[in-house]
Amino acid sequence: MRIAVVGGGIAGTSAAYELAAGTEVTLYERESTCGYHSTGRSAALFTECYGDPVVRRLAMAGRDFFEHPPPDFTDDPLVRPRPVMFVGTHAQRTELAVALADYSAMVPAVHGVSADEAVARCPVLDSDVVAGGIIEPEARDIDVAALHLGFLRGIRVRGSRVVTSAGVSRIAADHGGWQVTAGDRTEHFDVVVNAAGAWCDVIGRMAGAAPIGLVPKRRTAFTFSPGTDGGPLPWPMVIDVAEQFYFRPEGIHLLASPCDETPVEPHDVRHEEIDVAIGIDRVQSVTTLKIRSVVRAWAGLRSFVVDQRPVNGWDPECGGLYWIAGQGGFGIKTSPAMGRFAAAMILGGAPPADLVAAGVTAEAVGIARLRA
Ligand SMILES: Cc1cc2nc3c(=O)[nH]c(=O)nc-3n(C[C@H](O)[C@H](O)[C@H](O)COP(=O)(O)OP(=O)(O)OC[C@H]3O[C@@H](n4cnc5c(N)ncnc54)[C@H](O)[C@@H]3O)c2cc1C
Repeated sequence: MRIAVVGGGIAGTSAAYELAAGTEVTLYERESTCGYHSTGRSAALFTECYGDPVVRRLAMAGRDFFEHPPPDFTDDPLVRPRPVMFVGTHAQRTELAVALADYSAMVPAVHGVSADEAVARCPVLDSDVVAGGIIEPEARDIDVAALHLGFLRGIRVRGSRVVTSAGVSRIAADHGGWQVTAGDRTEHFDVVVNAAGAWCDVIGRMAGAAPIGLVPKRRTAFTFSPGTDGGPLPWPMVIDVAEQFYFRPEGIHLLASPCDETPVEPHDVRHEEIDVAIGIDRVQSVTTLKIRSVVRAWAGLRSFVVDQRPVNGWDPECGGLYWIAGQGGFGIKTSPAMGRFAAAMILGGAPPADLVAAGVTAEAVGIARLRA
């Protein structure tokens, strides 16, 4: 079976890596560098408390891969400990209680902490404002570059191809398969895997498929100096329980986001200064930090379908087209399981048994739910 994967972000590379263990894959990436778009712009967090239960199960199913990657996958650890602390103000006490019940139901190690304990863990939190927190002790920082590079290297080691600066411009049905044109090259494939991130509906339309209603949403991030001397701070990642901001150590700086979600067309997105200003205001409102200057700011696209659950399945009306889309704000942490799921469906006709047992079924992540 010859397979074309469109998109060299974490979705396309994780799937191509798994597929390449069993067949011949050509991965096409439009940019000169894979990972230029969303994959290179994330906050790099592995948490089992974010997203709907299917997203959380997908993350959990990938933990072993992150902590014990296959031999020769990477020279560097893929994850490092980074507890998450969800915090709330006095006005958010109910939200904290609801979130604690929700998170700890699936992740028993999660527990609540008092305001004093929250401030002890992150001393810049304002003790007059913060009413308490929720700790997820087993969360992790992901080395996204090492993960992505491991997938890319593995694809090549397994004898498959990665072609960069190769934007797919035409996908035409051809004898039960597809003619795919990328750059000046046209080749025949049996299956096209649509892993084009924010452009998945564009690629779907190119192949004659109905859209899945994907909405790319801009999210801003920026780094700044915490105003302390010395090396990286031993703080958790601090996330507002209502997802209005987050911040965490990033080298000697802090990385923060206003958690904006502005719908936009798929494009090479840039940050807006107003979103950085909102982020600064929100972080300062719960801390004693005085953010005087921003070191670096950027934005990336988080693309969602209507139920905010990822899409991983065959197009029911367009034979030979497989979608991996809608990873929203969880595409990095779910990538090992999403790649494995796609390869099992494409090569074996059924999802992996462990994922099905966890509730990640072909129906839960398939396309039929979006076209009903
Ligand atoms: C600020 C921010 C913070 C985030 N934080 C986290 C986090 O902490 N944890 C987490 O798990 N996730 C996080 N995410 C989400 C995560 O980054 C995304 O879900 C993930 O990167 C999506 O990967 P992708 O491969 O689908 O998309 P992309 O990385 O965008 O890759 C799609 C690729 O397809 C290519 N392409 C498009 N059209 C064509 C074409 N015609 N031909 C060839 N190639 C094409 C594009 O050039 C692109 O490289 C965050 C996202 C943002 C923006």
